[in-house]
Amino acid sequence: MGRERLLGLKCEQCGTLYPPEDECQTCCPQCGPRYGTLECRLDYDYIRRLLNKNPLMNRRDMSMFRYRELLPVINAESHVPLHIGWTPVYESEMAAKNLNLGRVFVKDDGLNPTASYKDRASAIAVARARELDFEAICTASTGNAAASLAACAASVHLPCIVIVPVATPQAKLMQMLAFGATVIPIDGSYDQAFNLTIEVCREFGWMNRSAGFNPYLVEGKKTGAIELAEQMGFDVPDVVFVSVGDGSIITGLCKGFKELRLLGFTDRCPKVIGVQAAGANVLVQAWNRYMETGEANFNPIPNPHTIADSICVGEPREGIRALKAVKSVGGYFMDVTDDEILNAMKRMPLETGVFGEPASATAYAGLIKASPSLGKDVSAAVLITGSGLKDLATAGSLWKTDDNPLEPSINSFDQILEKVRQNEER
Ligand SMILES: [Zn+2]
Repeated sequence: MGRERLLGLKCEQCGTLYPPEDECQTCCPQCGPRYGTLECRLDYDYIRRLLNKNPLMNRRDMSMFRYRELLPVINAESHVPLHIGWTPVYESEMAAKNLNLGRVFVKDDGLNPTASYKDRASAIAVARARELDFEAICTASTGNAAASLAACAASVHLPCIVIVPVATPQAKLMQMLAFGATVIPIDGSYDQAFNLTIEVCREFGWMNRSAGFNPYLVEGKKTGAIELAEQMGFDVPDVVFVSVGDGSIITGLCKGFKELRLLGFTDRCPKVIGVQAAGANVLVQAWNRYMETGEANFNPIPNPHTIADSICVGEPREGIRALKAVKSVGGYFMDVTDDEILNAMKRMPLETGVFGEPASATAYAGLIKASPSLGKDVSAAVLITGSGLKDLATAGSLWKTDDNPLEPSINSFDQILEKVRQNEER
């Protein structure tokens, strides 16, 4: 079971289909790593016979593995035991009203086991590592992917090595350490960490989970799209906003939406809008050129900078796949400044009830910025890719507790009322 679903690994650039036996193949040997990972090519005619809409909606597995027919994991025994996916979708009438849109939804992937979307990809990578008998798994990360991999690996007692920039937020580092990963901070960037994983994995024979290297991650990342659609009764929103670093999540989302349409579960794909930070906007620049020249390519930025650490990427490894994926669903790329991200970080919890990390607020900032051009009947969804508790240093620049604590007595009542009134006025 399972093997029949995977036709092979396909290069989207030259079209070569590598047989599924080449399971450790990462990129196309002819085209090179610049074009991203190979695509897991699934047999949709076969899957259509296995997976029907109504039985699916009655399934009791409330995790990403409820879509097992669409995943490249062969044995159910290799799944990680953590509960990943089926994260909630909330509608915010206040956001819709403030932004003059038809409906606004947020999907809170901060509620995954390690509080980020990356758990969806790590679960697939660890399951594949077990199926392929790797003795250890390693990743480069800006923080969330490593924290997530550490947890998934710990849950099945697989040794885990993570290579991260030394400036990674504390909360993410503590997660990696708590789950027993070997943490290797480097005095360098995420892009340098990525290159190092390729060398060490080759040298020591570990599986490499790095996004843009491991071809199975996109398959885990597509489950957020499939879930969002199912949770909305397969009546997908008009637009979906997501922040973009290396381009892996957005590539997965587009794939998920397209698969649902292929299977006849939906009648259209939402426009997926990739939001980048202005200081790390490689794909926004690339998108503009792509629209002008028809050529999907990008120029790396040597020193990307943004407060949104999770998307501070100068060389997006799935960049070209992301550009093509977004074009195929009629979406686009846009950027927002760090000030716009901070503003969105303040607004999002008040308007939606969800506290997101700066990269999640980036997607919300995109929604705010794009809203005047969307139209008052449009339904929009925002993907919250990580919890706000992941980066308290940035949060600390936005909010402060009161320096003058009150006497713990009902006699302080007037002052309490005054504080409530002041807070409401803000
Ligand atoms: Zn190729």
